[in-house]
Amino acid sequence: MEIKWTEIENKWRSRWIENKDFETNPNEKQKKFITVAYPYPNSPQHIGHGRTYTLADVHARFYRMKGYNVLFPMAFHYTGTPILGMAKRVEAGDAELIENLKKLYSVPEESIKTFVEPVRIADYFHEEIKTGMIEMGYSIDWRREFTTIDPVYSKFIEWQINTLREKSLIVQGNHPVGWCPKDQNPVSQHDTQGDVEPDFTEYILIKFKYGDYIIPTATLRPETIFGVVNLWINPEIVYKKITVDNEKWIVSKECAYKLEFLDKKISYDGEIVGSELIGETVTVPHRKESIVMLPASFVESETGTGMVMSVPAHAPFDYQALEDIKKTNLESELASKVSKIVPISIIETEGYGDNPAKEAVEKFRVTSQNDPKLEEATKEVYGKEFYGGKLKSNTEQFSGIKVAYAKDTIKEWLIENKYADILLELTNAPIKCRCGAECVVKVLNNQWFLNYGDKEWKELAIKCFDQMSILPQEIKSEFQYVIGWLHERACARQHGLGTKLPWDKDWIVESLSDSVIYMAYYTISKFVNNGTVIADNLSKEFFDYIFLEKGDVNKVADITKIPINTINEIKKEFQYFYPVDSRHSGRDLVPNHLTFFVLNHVAIFPEKNWPKEIVVNGSVLMDGSKMSKSMGNIIPLRKAIQDYGADPIRLAIIISAELLQDADFNMESVSGIQNKLESLYDECSRLKPDKINNLEAEDRWILSKTQRLVSEVTAAIEKMRLREALHHVLFSFESDLSWYNKRAKAKNRENISGVLHQINSTRVAMLSPFAPHIAEEMWEKLGYSEMVSTSSWPEFSKDSLDASSIQSEELLKSTIDDVANILKVTKMTPQKITIYTADSFKSKIYYSILEKVMAGQTNMGIVMKELIASPETADVKKIPDFVQKTIKDILSEPTEIRETKLQSKEFDEKNFLSRELSDIGKKEFGVKIDVFSESDEGIYDPKGKARHARPFKPAILIE
Ligand SMILES: [Zn+2]
Repeated sequence: MEIKWTEIENKWRSRWIENKDFETNPNEKQKKFITVAYPYPNSPQHIGHGRTYTLADVHARFYRMKGYNVLFPMAFHYTGTPILGMAKRVEAGDAELIENLKKLYSVPEESIKTFVEPVRIADYFHEEIKTGMIEMGYSIDWRREFTTIDPVYSKFIEWQINTLREKSLIVQGNHPVGWCPKDQNPVSQHDTQGDVEPDFTEYILIKFKYGDYIIPTATLRPETIFGVVNLWINPEIVYKKITVDNEKWIVSKECAYKLEFLDKKISYDGEIVGSELIGETVTVPHRKESIVMLPASFVESETGTGMVMSVPAHAPFDYQALEDIKKTNLESELASKVSKIVPISIIETEGYGDNPAKEAVEKFRVTSQNDPKLEEATKEVYGKEFYGGKLKSNTEQFSGIKVAYAKDTIKEWLIENKYADILLELTNAPIKCRCGAECVVKVLNNQWFLNYGDKEWKELAIKCFDQMSILPQEIKSEFQYVIGWLHERACARQHGLGTKLPWDKDWIVESLSDSVIYMAYYTISKFVNNGTVIADNLSKEFFDYIFLEKGDVNKVADITKIPINTINEIKKEFQYFYPVDSRHSGRDLVPNHLTFFVLNHVAIFPEKNWPKEIVVNGSVLMDGSKMSKSMGNIIPLRKAIQDYGADPIRLAIIISAELLQDADFNMESVSGIQNKLESLYDECSRLKPDKINNLEAEDRWILSKTQRLVSEVTAAIEKMRLREALHHVLFSFESDLSWYNKRAKAKNRENISGVLHQINSTRVAMLSPFAPHIAEEMWEKLGYSEMVSTSSWPEFSKDSLDASSIQSEELLKSTIDDVANILKVTKMTPQKITIYTADSFKSKIYYSILEKVMAGQTNMGIVMKELIASPETADVKKIPDFVQKTIKDILSEPTEIRETKLQSKEFDEKNFLSRELSDIGKKEFGVKIDVFSESDEGIYDPKGKARHARPFKPAILIE
């Protein structure tokens, strides 16, 4: 039957709302506080956004059914610059943007007109996204909703920022930031096209003297100053002559532009072509030696200063360029200078001789300075020398220091002696601001920074990461990496919506700093929304008392004019729900939001309130490719819900990938899911609860398999392996069910409705967190009057898992399969089928071997010896072949089946097969099947097959 998705979904959503099923207050039950990164309302949600929220909702619904008091709240992040940029584009009449809003997202014209005001944009999409979330069936407690520009929230952020400053974790200083030169604002991931977080590389500029000028070269290896033998200049580049503070420099145009942002006074004095410098000499700082400038094509004007110092003993590029130049026709004076150049070896590394660069160039068979293999060669030399190298005696006071430690010491020495300066570059350039301008690195002076470089702070964060659960586990090293490189980070902006810095009202707290501890705010937002708490009079004392148990409640009541018992009720609410039990977010937020979330929690809250878990998911692809406006493959979530129903979309998102993989969404899988749900729905509509008595073998088996299903699904969800769990519920169980139906049909049974009803009730209950609406409808069809979403999660009970019924049914199935295979291979039409089971002696040995194997003994010789040593099994020496085959049989089975067998010894195969084989055998093969034990008297065994029988591997005779 075709399901009317919208109708069914509306029906159950309104019931949930009516019953206030997801409104959570503190009670005597154990709590779970599950949160997701709140959305940024500058566009409607598309299918890709649905993934993180759906995963979190399944998580919340699962724990609710497990009996926890689950809080799953939601809010909206208005702060930041993207909305601002969008308002400007609307005001400027940006045709592409307006077209997108109209066509793709069906925003009405009247609304678009109001979008010149940033808050209107946020308000519009806030409602749009919220409606979408409700339509998706998310089990959110909407009483706690807020936006980050609400007045009470601003008070909360002021408290957070003040608290960090009191702890000296917000500092004023000069630090680099990603910067949009057009907006004159720092940029972070939220502000860039493609959501790229700007990352910097710090180069040391070594200052070579060229007459009155300085020719700086950029390097990551300042120690190599002792091994420089020439400079490389690109003769094609037109370099700039500039004044940097009080010095005259020659650098590439691009470098000059970068320097403008690095806290230096720059003026432009003229130009010089690279070719004019070739053959001239410069003086090496400190060493005071003259070295020559030579031409090289690998030098690029975008990187560093557009000039490179040459260390041919340790840099493969330099070595190769020198080799190349020797082969060219140089004028005689220059040629003689080149011929005199000798590489200077300054690092001693095990496995390398005097010229590691040369060795690497030869090893990688590099042919010229434009050979891409040079990158690999360079990587190898740098890596080996950095971790294993030691400076040689020609490096003066640094002699004997390991390269890994020398870098910083030498850098300090160079800068102190004015031999060097610093150049910062974007590591991941080019990065574009959302406004379209290309971003740069800027050193901000006297600005406010979160001191994420602080060692003690980092250590606390590492402690928290070590204690918490991170799902999936493999993402943990990414967090460790991020904590490693994290440094000071600007926490204020000059433009955008948000909370003003309490001590400097010209600045606004930026959006990755005002969104890190807001989970705590959900415990008070309920009291804000019902009017109990208003922004007036809210002070540090109030938040200190609620969140940190500091201060005197009488004083807090005095200041805030809130009654004492209300204040204590709010505090209780926080203490009940905190800490966060699970934080969900997309993978792109690992290097920023999720790491800052932990850093800010450990800075502000006592250890008992540190977060317990982080769950990270990958993104969503559309038919295998990334969703983007330009690809035209963005499907707005609400449109998809209208067209296909919320549940099929939820399942299609979940079934296509485990957590960290990118989920591939496509319409075929949606309709596949729809069909699957329809047939399950039909099944549920047919089944009526019925008494289950006189269980037959197949009943005991399928009920045991259901128990196993419960245990597998539960374990998978606990690890957030939702694809696996859903697959178990919807698909893998089907083959068991169809075997069961086959068996019942062969026996012409009509009393299996009760069993099927029970099994499908269990399945529907387990489906409910995934497909909440249709599961309610199925549940109702199954005859339940309560809601499935508020029912209990099926409990796995070891007692109802009947191991012997599982192993006997497996024996029956494999016997039928074996017969079918023989018939297929021999193309016989059977007249008579005879089955021989192993005798009790073999059975005894089988279990004895099974025990030994399960205890870890698989050595045939030792097993044999042990069997012979025991009087009960000593006779085994007559059938050594049997022991070998049995060990092989056992090892070829999954551990789970071995365990089942071990649990259910004493199993009479002959008895079972003679009882159960006849009906199904007749149905499958059309003949009667006789069963003998190999030791039976009067056995029919014309071909002498019986002696080949082994436990669980009966011998078969087909005539
Ligand atoms: Zn910009």
